[in-house]
Amino acid sequence: MKLVMKFGGTSVATGERTRKVAELIERYRSEGHQIVSVVSALDGVTEDLLGAADRSQLGDGPYKDDFVAALLERHLKVAGAAMSDPEVLRRTNEDLLRKSDELRKVLTGIAYVREVTPRSRDTIVSFGERLSTPILAGALVSRGISATFLTGGEAGILTDANFGEARPLKGVTYPELEKRLSSLLAEHVLPVVAGFTGQTQEGVVTTLGRGGSDYTATLVGAAISADEVWIWTDVDGLMTCDPRIIPESAVLPELSFQEAVEMIVFGAKAMHPRALEPAMEASIPVRIKNTLNPEGPGTLITKELRVRARSPVKAMTIAKGVAVVTISGAGIVGVPGTAAKVFEVLGRNGINIMMISQSVSEANISFVIRNSVLEKAVNALEISLLGGGLIREVSSEDEVCVVSVVGAGVKDTPGVAARVFSAVASRGVNVRMIAQGSSEMGLSVVVKEADSRAAIEAIHKEFELSRA
Ligand code: ADP
Ligand code: ASP
Ligand code: MG
Repeated sequence: MKLVMKFGGTSVATGERTRKVAELIERYRSEGHQIVSVVSALDGVTEDLLGAADRSQLGDGPYKDDFVAALLERHLKVAGAAMSDPEVLRRTNEDLLRKSDELRKVLTGIAYVREVTPRSRDTIVSFGERLSTPILAGALVSRGISATFLTGGEAGILTDANFGEARPLKGVTYPELEKRLSSLLAEHVLPVVAGFTGQTQEGVVTTLGRGGSDYTATLVGAAISADEVWIWTDVDGLMTCDPRIIPESAVLPELSFQEAVEMIVFGAKAMHPRALEPAMEASIPVRIKNTLNPEGPGTLITKELRVRARSPVKAMTIAKGVAVVTISGAGIVGVPGTAAKVFEVLGRNGINIMMISQSVSEANISFVIRNSVLEKAVNALEISLLGGGLIREVSSEDEVCVVSVVGAGVKDTPGVAARVFSAVASRGVNVRMIAQGSSEMGLSVVVKEADSRAAIEAIHKEFELSRA
């Protein structure tokens, strides 16, 4: 089979783990599979780089030298433990040194001009993947496998210039990825592609958005017509809930693309919201597996949609860092086009709406957006809508979260909403807003963040989700 295997930051966080990843790749390759690997930055490095970019902007000179030295030391240590061939290690170390030098120069520039732009931030943050790929490639070469590493841009991922959330230009990206990666595969060279990163058609580095390495993997999969995309991580698969919140969460053996997308959009597994889109469009199955338990069956995501008889709810998610905005005024009811105007204003400002609900009796519309765009949204709405007499007030509430239940059939099965409400009410939690999910595979409620744990525990229990 032709397989794309993506390894997340935790899977390559230490030298020992990277060695294990190389062993896994070697094993599947010796079984006759053709493999393209995609790798994330070492666990925590993306976050650290974002912090360094912000701090350098304050002109903090000594800090950046210490930061780069510590980053280099961590990568040298991982490389030293990941590969045993001294010559390969020497070459890898040289590469790591060269790149950390380059990073120091970029941070110095930022410290001088005291400004980090979305464009320079992408260059800085791309070093996470630029430093992890040579280590995995070295670990493979050290085992006698012919491997080479590429940035996303070098592999063929070409994007628009929307730095921080760049969109791949599929029309050029797919043929480029296909051309470059297939010719490496034809020469029996295993490509190690840096996840998350791309470049504009002018060659400027971009990133796809947080959790973007999974997106890179499915883009590669669609481009080379892979048989499957395997996403290796640190849990046994996609689970009924975030295992850090509900330890009894169970692994979901199989799921449809629509259900998985609904889960991801509402916060499961920190994946990029569009991460499954290329695989879904090309009908390429996606497996989620655990590097620390490779024999486990994992989760298989396919286009097959199965409504479960026992209970349509298969999983639940929680999205934090969101806010509810409510627009009230007489113009909301009975005046055609007011809602359209609201959404037009938000759309024009690039603000993504996660959930909408309208209350006729109270003459208001509420919607949920990310906290990070709250101020921008409220300002834009006030400027465009207040003063005409139709809208009385734009108010907002943060410190809330969206708790969703997901599963094919949730929409059509009577009683799901009632069960969600009574489970939540039994713990004394007040529901502030309710709406059908974006793809009709789910149902979401907004509760205060302080109540989220009680709400999640109650719903997980009500639908007996610990028995996946
Ligand atoms: P990676 O580094 O492999 O990309 P991430 O940290 O991005 O891994 O995502 C894996 C983590 O997502 C898991 O360790 C788990 O704690 C968390 N997670 C949250 N919700 C879910 C879920 N429903 N199923 C599986 N994992 C989840
Ligand atoms: N390293 C990037 C991030 O932390 C991409 C990824 O891990 O998927 O967001
Ligand atoms: Mg991730």
